[in-house]
Amino acid sequence: MTTVLHDMTVAELAAGLKAKTFSATEVAQHFVARAQADTTGSFLALNPEATLAQAQASDERIAAGKAGALEGVPLGHKDIFVTQDFPTTAGSKMLEGYRSPFDATLVRRLAEAGMVTVGKLNCDEFAMGSGNENSAYGSVKNPWDTSRVPGGSSGGSAAAIAARVVPAATGTDTGGSIRQPASFCGITGIKPTYGRASRYGMIAYASSLDQGGPMARTAEDCALLLSAMCGPDPDRDSTSLDVPAEDFTASLNADLKGLRIGIPKEFFGEGLAADVRAAVDAALAELTQLGATLVPISLPRTELSIPVYYIIAPAEASSNLSRFDGVKFGHRAKDYTDLESMYKKSRAEGFGSEVKRRIMTGTYVLSHGYYDAYYLQAQKIRRMIADDFQNAFKQCDVIAGPVAPKVAWKLGENANDPVADYLADIFTLPASLAGLPGMSVPAGFGAHGMPVGMQLIGNYFKEAQLLNVAHRLQQATDFHLRKPEGI
Ligand code: GLN
Repeated sequence: MTTVLHDMTVAELAAGLKAKTFSATEVAQHFVARAQADTTGSFLALNPEATLAQAQASDERIAAGKAGALEGVPLGHKDIFVTQDFPTTAGSKMLEGYRSPFDATLVRRLAEAGMVTVGKLNCDEFAMGSGNENSAYGSVKNPWDTSRVPGGSSGGSAAAIAARVVPAATGTDTGGSIRQPASFCGITGIKPTYGRASRYGMIAYASSLDQGGPMARTAEDCALLLSAMCGPDPDRDSTSLDVPAEDFTASLNADLKGLRIGIPKEFFGEGLAADVRAAVDAALAELTQLGATLVPISLPRTELSIPVYYIIAPAEASSNLSRFDGVKFGHRAKDYTDLESMYKKSRAEGFGSEVKRRIMTGTYVLSHGYYDAYYLQAQKIRRMIADDFQNAFKQCDVIAGPVAPKVAWKLGENANDPVADYLADIFTLPASLAGLPGMSVPAGFGAHGMPVGMQLIGNYFKEAQLLNVAHRLQQATDFHLRKPEGI
C-alpha cells in the first residue's frame, strides 16, 4: 500500500475494502480525523460515534460476505439532505439544531450501497447562491486559493473533495450548484436528468428544478455513486421518474469515434474570460484527438435563461419556504405578542438576506396582476429553451462549453452585488431549465492558477454518455489528479 487513503478514489477505496487491504473502521477513522482537522470550513456537522458505528456495520457485512457495491467507502452529504445521525440546517439559522426523524432517499440509497457518512457539508442558505457566501455558518474557502470562493451552492461538498477530506459527496443542482462548485474546485460532478434521483428529504428550494447528484474527483467515481442514487421513488417523490437505475460504469470506456459534440456559439461569446476559453478549447481539442467531431450549434435563448430562472426559482422558493413559520420547524422568535408577530419575527430572525430577497421577488412575481407578466411569461420561455436543446440534439450527441464565465472569484468580491452572482450562472441555467443532465469535468487551469471545468450537457437520460466522455478525457489528461498546494 503506497497511496495514502485520502488520495484514493472511491473505486480504489472500494477495491481495497473488498480485498480487506484495510477495514472500513480504519478508513472511517482516517477521514474523520481529516474532517476534524479541516480548515476550509466545509463541515457543519460531524458525529464520529455514528460514523464509526456505520463503519463497523460495514466491516461486519464485509466479513459476512454481504458487502454492498460501495461498502465502507466514506462520503459527506450536502447539508440540504436530511439525516437521522446528524443535524440538518440547509445552511440556515432557521434550522439550527434541527434533527430529521428520517433519512433522505439518496442518503438511504448510498447507505444501502454500503457508504459511510463522515459529516454534513456547508452550503448556501437553502441552496441559494453561487459562492457559498450565503451560508449562515460562514463562507467555505476554496482549497486552491483560500481567499477565493469554492463556488456554490454545494461549496462545502466541492471544497472537501478538492482538499481530500472526503473522496465523494452529494450535491444538489437547481441552477448549477453541482457543476459550478465542481468547476471552481477542480473536481467532477454530475446533475442527472430532472426526476432521475429522488428529491425526498432534500430540503426544497425550487421544486421543478432541484436535482441531487454526486460529486467526486473522477467521472468513474461519479458513475459509481450515481448508479446507487438513481431510480424511481414512487411512494415518496411523485416527480421521480419511472426509469430504472442503471450501471453507469458499464459504458465508461466506449470509443468516442464518431461522437458529435455541439458547440453553442452563445457559450463562447464576449462574456467568456479568455483563460476559461483557452482551457475549454484545449479540452475540446483533446476530445477531437480521441475521435469526436465538433459541430457548431446555437442555443439562441441562452441569455434569457437568467431572467427566466430568477423568476421561476424565487417563485417556487417563496412557496416552499412558507413552511418555515416558527410553528412546525426550526427557529421560533422569543418575544412576540400574537401569532402574526410570531410568524414575522421568526422569519425575520431565521432567514438571511439573500433568502429574504428571493422570497420577496418570488412573492412579487406571483402576485395578482404580475403573474401573467412575469411568471407565466417565464414559463413560456422556459419551454422554448427546452425546445432549443431538442433542435440542437438533432445535430449533435452531446453539448460542450464552459461551466462558468470566469474562475472562482475572491471572497467578498460580490458582497454588495447579488446580480453579479446571478449573471455568473448563465451557462448552467439553460440545462437546469430544460431538466437535462449536465456535468462538470476538470479541463485545466486558468487565471491565478484556479481550476476550470468544462460543461457537458446530454439529452434526457444520457448520463452514461456524459460520464463516458468525461472518463475518456480523464484518461488522456491529469487535471483531476492534481492537488492544491499543501494538501
Ligand atoms: N446560483 C443559483 C441560485 O442561486 C443556483 C443555485 C443552485 O443550483 N442551488 O439559485
